[in-house]
Amino acid sequence: MRLRELGAVSKTEGVPGIWRAVHTDSDCRGKGLIAQWMKEAGLQVREDCFGNIYGRLEGEVPETILTGSHVDTVKNGGLYDGACGVATAVSAVGALVKAGWKPYYSVEIIGIEEEEGSRFDLLYPGSRAIVGHLLTEELDSRDENGIVLKELMEEKGYDWKRISEADRRGDVKEFIELHIEQGAVLEKEGLSIGLVEHITGMMKADVAIYGEQNHAGTTPMYLRKDPVVKTAELILNMTERVKEISRSAVITIGELDLQPNVSNVIPGRVHFVIDMRDGDGAALLDAKKAVERIIHSAEDDGFRTELKIYSYKEPVSLDAGLVDCLEEAAREAGAAYKRMNSGAGHDSMAIAGEIPTCMIFIPSVDGISHSPQEYTRPEDLGWGCEVLGRLLVKRAKGRK
Ligand SMILES: [Zn+2]
Repeated sequence: MRLRELGAVSKTEGVPGIWRAVHTDSDCRGKGLIAQWMKEAGLQVREDCFGNIYGRLEGEVPETILTGSHVDTVKNGGLYDGACGVATAVSAVGALVKAGWKPYYSVEIIGIEEEEGSRFDLLYPGSRAIVGHLLTEELDSRDENGIVLKELMEEKGYDWKRISEADRRGDVKEFIELHIEQGAVLEKEGLSIGLVEHITGMMKADVAIYGEQNHAGTTPMYLRKDPVVKTAELILNMTERVKEISRSAVITIGELDLQPNVSNVIPGRVHFVIDMRDGDGAALLDAKKAVERIIHSAEDDGFRTELKIYSYKEPVSLDAGLVDCLEEAAREAGAAYKRMNSGAGHDSMAIAGEIPTCMIFIPSVDGISHSPQEYTRPEDLGWGCEVLGRLLVKRAKGRK
């Protein structure tokens, strides 16, 4: 209900789906509605100098349990990605306040800006501001119309010179993010809650296998050095080996091109990109070594190989104690749950290194996200709200 309302105020005439990007009119209207929800739930509302919005319930001490997710969307986005973590938190805390809850620790709901980086080419600027990692020079970033973030912030009344004041490492004790799964595992297994243990690490590599370009009709099989056949063998070997190393690892060759890519020519070169991910850091490293070994093994058969790893990100582990507590909350609520990893990045990734963090996943129907078609059933939003509420009561303690 709240999410449909938020989607409706965020719609812009002539823009497909929803595009609620930082400091757009859509974003201002969206945050206006969130502020209203927060006030109705009995929370004190404010924004920090980046534009992240907060609703605070004062506890007996200023140390804070922070919960929420991002308020922005991708271009042509939907109602649930990000926003459901904010809306669910407002519902959970609102219900607790109504029931007379007096937490010992303060509790704050946050709507984080620009997680998707859909307007400015920055990685998690809103959440990095919260942990003091956003640099003022990053605010020189321009959007596709050449608008400088810094100047836009000034125009909208956000003082970029005070960006360091958004740093909450001093008072935030823990961060809890509820988010849609963006995959189909929970739905396919008939579960309502995912307890995220790790956000997967990722390796991206460019590979080229060089053989001998020649005539497809006149070159007998025994005289060929065909890089396509070799690549097929390498891909099968890598896939099998990675599956042996880790049950949770995934490897994808989603991009592959042949040189010259002509039907009657044995190609001279195959180029492909490896995307490999795992939540287990040691296993990801083992898989990386195995992939390197397998690619280079083609040289034994006279092929020249090039392998360039252009991105390698370690997995981020969420706080084990918090995940245990989350499991207790899910069990006590009677929710059908499982422990799992997140294959996508989130604000939690930026925060977890500085503040103990955990994530709650709720199902995405058909695993669809980053689309106006994304959908989560009301009963699963309800389970998310119930489990989040119970976890907040456990973490913030206090009297009920
Ligand atoms: Zn998201």
